[in-house]
Amino acid sequence: METRLKHQVMSPSNVEGNKKKLISLGLGDPTVYSCFRTDLAAKEAVSNALLSGKFNGYYPPGGLPETRKAIAEYLSADLPYELSPDDVFVASGCTQAIDMVISVLARPGANVLLPRPGFPSYGIFSSFRNIEARYYDLLPDNGWEVNLETVKTLADQNTIAVVVINPGNPCGNAYTRQHLEEIAETVGRLGIPIIADEVYGHLAFGANPFVPMGVFGSKVQVFTLGSLSKRWLVPGWCLGWLVMNDPSGEFRNPKLIERVNKYCTISGGPASFIQAAVPQIMRGTNTDFFANTINIVRRTENLCYEKLEELPSFSYSCKAEGSMVLMAKLNLSVLEDIGDDIEFCLKLAKEESLIILPGIAVGLKNWIRVTFAADPESIEEALGRLTDFSQRHIKQATTQSSKIMYPTELQRVKEENDRLLGR
Ligand SMILES: *Cc1c(COP(=O)(O)O)cnc(C)c1O
Repeated sequence: METRLKHQVMSPSNVEGNKKKLISLGLGDPTVYSCFRTDLAAKEAVSNALLSGKFNGYYPPGGLPETRKAIAEYLSADLPYELSPDDVFVASGCTQAIDMVISVLARPGANVLLPRPGFPSYGIFSSFRNIEARYYDLLPDNGWEVNLETVKTLADQNTIAVVVINPGNPCGNAYTRQHLEEIAETVGRLGIPIIADEVYGHLAFGANPFVPMGVFGSKVQVFTLGSLSKRWLVPGWCLGWLVMNDPSGEFRNPKLIERVNKYCTISGGPASFIQAAVPQIMRGTNTDFFANTINIVRRTENLCYEKLEELPSFSYSCKAEGSMVLMAKLNLSVLEDIGDDIEFCLKLAKEESLIILPGIAVGLKNWIRVTFAADPESIEEALGRLTDFSQRHIKQATTQSSKIMYPTELQRVKEENDRLLGR
């Protein structure tokens, strides 16, 4: 249903009829914007690997040895122990890593615990492998922390894993070290592994630094998923990984490793020259490149958050501290002719050529998810359209009072934006 919804909102027939240029804050592919280009070092690494002529052949299941080694080194830098190249399995993006881990853990009658709101692929892949998806809640008032009580209630002897996405999509959460430890301890006591989706690893720009779940690898079995897609802004390169964190060797399971190897043999992975470029990409990327991305998303997040906070059509918006997305709750009671989040997004697309994802697509009805991975100019244009749209659809009585409030409030936000943009 999630996929159908996205297509419905974004279909050309829905957005025709006004002449504005389409802006999508829906799906979030930052590469559409020229401010989000990968580092020269990454492009050179791929080009060198290709031109060397040495990487046109097949590679062993699990990936090229030097690729696995480079990923192990890269991730070990944030861990209190060293990963071995054997712990790393190269996948075709984080997407395939999700399928890989779900597939190898699958067994008859199994269930998996997924966050709500969450990233739709987990539900889709689970049902494809006949695994029951059970949803535990994230708490919007609490930085979208995991409601550990619902985790404990939902888990049983058939639960194969608990999925934790941090930094989070769709919530923009960046969990504290303490909360991650609480999750690790709770899930560890239940004897269930954690699938730690860290595809947004290091893309944290608030108070909490990024802490990988693997730090707690001795308290709970952790499967870490990641990719180059988000941090290096190259989702089309499809270079991801599944990592088994097992510092004490206590979770070693030769059968599971055999299943992963079989999976890799059957399903393949990313192109060999992309794999071959990974060591140079990971060791050679300019730190300024990462800092630049963080600076842009911090600024665009701020623009979005402030505007959503101010518009009466949203009752609640949650400041993102990581990833490239945030959630806001619709205030349907002040909107005249809009019944739910789908209608809001469909009308917004039709009237303003602006695409935003209805919350139901990520499991939370009457919220919206906004991607702020766009250049500041596009974000400002989009927020202007969202303001026009909201004003047009607001109930009469509400308009009266907001007319009095708006100018000063708008002026304040504009000044703040100008300041952030250095004007
Ligand atoms: C983008 C994304 C993925 C998929 O990553 P790719 O490397 O592009 O396949 C997985 N999980 C989450 C939470 C994501 O946002």
